[in-house]
Amino acid sequence: MPAKNLEELVSLCKRRGFIFQSHEIYGGMQGLYDYGPLGVELKNNIKSSWWRDLVYERDDIEGLDAAILTKQSVLQYSGHEDTFTDPLVDCKDCKARMRADHIKDGKCLNCGSTNLTEARPFNLMFKTNIGPIDDDSSFAYLRPETAQQIFVNYKNVTDSTSRVPPFGIAQIGKAFRNEITLKSFIFRVREFEQMELEYFVEPGTDEEWHEKWVDQRLSWWLKQGVEKNNLELLDVPKDELSHYSKKTVDIMYKFPHGLEELEGIANRTDFDLGSHSKNQNELNISAKIKHNNHSNAKLAFKRPEDKDWIVPYVIEPSAGVDRAFLALLNESYFEEEIDGGQRIVLKLKPHLSPIKVAVIPLKKNNAEIVNIAKQIKNNLQSHGLGRVLFENSGNIGKSYRRHDEIGTPTCITVDFESLENQTVTLRDRDTMSQERININRVEDFFKDKF
Ligand code: ATP
Repeated sequence: MPAKNLEELVSLCKRRGFIFQSHEIYGGMQGLYDYGPLGVELKNNIKSSWWRDLVYERDDIEGLDAAILTKQSVLQYSGHEDTFTDPLVDCKDCKARMRADHIKDGKCLNCGSTNLTEARPFNLMFKTNIGPIDDDSSFAYLRPETAQQIFVNYKNVTDSTSRVPPFGIAQIGKAFRNEITLKSFIFRVREFEQMELEYFVEPGTDEEWHEKWVDQRLSWWLKQGVEKNNLELLDVPKDELSHYSKKTVDIMYKFPHGLEELEGIANRTDFDLGSHSKNQNELNISAKIKHNNHSNAKLAFKRPEDKDWIVPYVIEPSAGVDRAFLALLNESYFEEEIDGGQRIVLKLKPHLSPIKVAVIPLKKNNAEIVNIAKQIKNNLQSHGLGRVLFENSGNIGKSYRRHDEIGTPTCITVDFESLENQTVTLRDRDTMSQERININRVEDFFKDKF
């Protein structure tokens, strides 16, 4: 069955090297986590799967990798300086700090006291200093979302690719939020990664595109191995919408700690491109933050048949990489009764598995067996499958257990019979079944599997 509680996942992550508490040897730091040897592979595989499906398999999306440090004006005119806040409440008794919208029945989440301060807005953006002089005029923000850099690069991308809507710009990267309350392992952290697509469409077609993107994103999660029953769509109530959104549908997932947002799909209208455009009065914009030509670009398009410039509407599917990681880990975690005990197995889809194949010599000190295993490893590795591991532990049973637990779909064992008839054993993670195949068929087997 899937993980019963978060602690089991946290324990697996630490034990097997998926995720560590940041700065652990100095006592750790709240809200920060480091991805270990297997974590970095799983994370990269999640990101590659998203990138492949959006950027490579479609022909209407370009990629971008922009700066994290963000100029004040960008986040001023995007509205984040004024509105990217959470309501902060202090408990006067135990001094705990929490989000007002997380409180139930007016009671402190830590001690249950009702002696709380009034809620006050707390801006979630981190500031840092740029250059040698530390004063109020020399700061930059660490971006709170990757989206704004896509908007401010709209003209660069359209000028260099000749794109006109409908088309999208995709970006994966770090975002930073000074969250008031951190919770549930990597679910809510202060430094995280987002996979964001800004899909630009003609005004009037936005609602239809929004629906299409909700469908597409749901199918993507199913393709990654998430059970349909564990996903729900939430139409975000009007009074909870972000300042830029006309409509947002959240894809909710049944995390071990409860049903929570995995990805948001927002109709950001022309709010952002309008707000970052020069000569706003000459444009027909429905929503904008007024400014006096601080920007020098008109973020709009005009085809030969158009009379006026048109500011595109934007549909934004925005998913958190860390939340994806947690959901996929939870989804694939099973404890099973087997002969002689219990095994933990991560039934990850092969394209997500941190290690694709483990090649294991039966006898650690037998040079011939070891040599064949190394050759198989090198051959498979050269096909770009992802990480293929040569594992010379000398204990085949232990190796199988370990690879079940970290989600390796297949182990190849080289033994004495391999020396006689050039066959090896393939052992399947999910069924634990074993079959012998000729070494010269191994390559095709894995090409088919992946
Ligand atoms: P929440 O309501 O949970 O705070 P949000 O609505 O503020 O999330 P968005 O601004 O829509 O989140 O960000 C898009 C995605 O980025 C979210 O769906 C989530 O997967 C991820 N994300 C946002 N904040 C965090 C965080 N503090 N830690 C980890 N992932 C996050």
